[in-house]
Amino acid sequence: MNEIFPKGHAWIDGNFVALAEAKISILDWGFLRSDATYDVVHVWKGRFFRLDKHINRFFESTKKLRMPCQMDRDELKKILAGCVEKAKLENAYVEMIQTRGMSANFVRDPREATPRIIAFAVPFGWILKQEDFEKGLDVLLTEIKRIPPSSVDPTIKNYHWMDLVTGMLNAYEKGNDTAILVDENNNITEGPGFNLFCVDENGIFTPDYGVLEGITRQTVFDLAKELNIPISKKPISIEQLKNAKELFATSTAGGIMPITKVNGELIGDGKVGENTRNLHEIYWEKHMDSGWSVSINEILAK
Ligand code: PLP
Repeated sequence: MNEIFPKGHAWIDGNFVALAEAKISILDWGFLRSDATYDVVHVWKGRFFRLDKHINRFFESTKKLRMPCQMDRDELKKILAGCVEKAKLENAYVEMIQTRGMSANFVRDPREATPRIIAFAVPFGWILKQEDFEKGLDVLLTEIKRIPPSSVDPTIKNYHWMDLVTGMLNAYEKGNDTAILVDENNNITEGPGFNLFCVDENGIFTPDYGVLEGITRQTVFDLAKELNIPISKKPISIEQLKNAKELFATSTAGGIMPITKVNGELIGDGKVGENTRNLHEIYWEKHMDSGWSVSINEILAK
């Protein structure tokens, strides 16, 4: 195995292959125009978490891009589970992708292309490592505007990441862990691969505009309801962000993660807040609950 590749396995053009063998043509519009959609689900201790919700979002995204996925749900599940099994991973990050594909003779009309489906499993990745949980994330609030929904619909999970990548580079240059981007009205949106939540005396809030409808974000709503904590979607200003009692990020890449510093200033007392901690604990407990998760073996045995 090529050393630059992590442990993992892929499925492409109808075959399971080692990661190093999973390749697409440079003429695929997914590569040339970022004309693709994807989803990421994780596997924890051999179980997919909220797999159907990720597949629903993936299917919806392919429809919104006018290239509805032709693969059926059970077949897709088997492919995803197959990647994890062949990679021999207990905890994995599992990505499904549909690109616009290629058109004969490089015709420009997207309708002429034949979409391509790809899947792969690699080891689980964290935006905030478990051992750094008490420290929390130290983020840079950038002046970069997230691509507006009037240009690219953020509810379609996409690879238009130049704004997010610029944010990451700015953050790393300044010694921060990651970045937060704003919208055209300077309200906060999201960061590279995560949604944001603020906690104040009235409850928990998350931006209602210009963001991906994260599955972990939805999970926070479901858990907050179980815990009887008021929760809603609404615009969040920079002032509200800085004055929050607690802040946290949510992502399939790490779950519910405290943000304890913004631009070097402490959020609240700079410690992990009570709501963040409770939500984080119950989030991980749900990973073993068959109402919320399904084992790889169960999918492969069907
Ligand atoms: N926002 C963006 C831009 C993302 O790319 C992601 C995930 O990759 C998220 C938010 C979090 O979404 P989820 O909770 O479904 O992982």
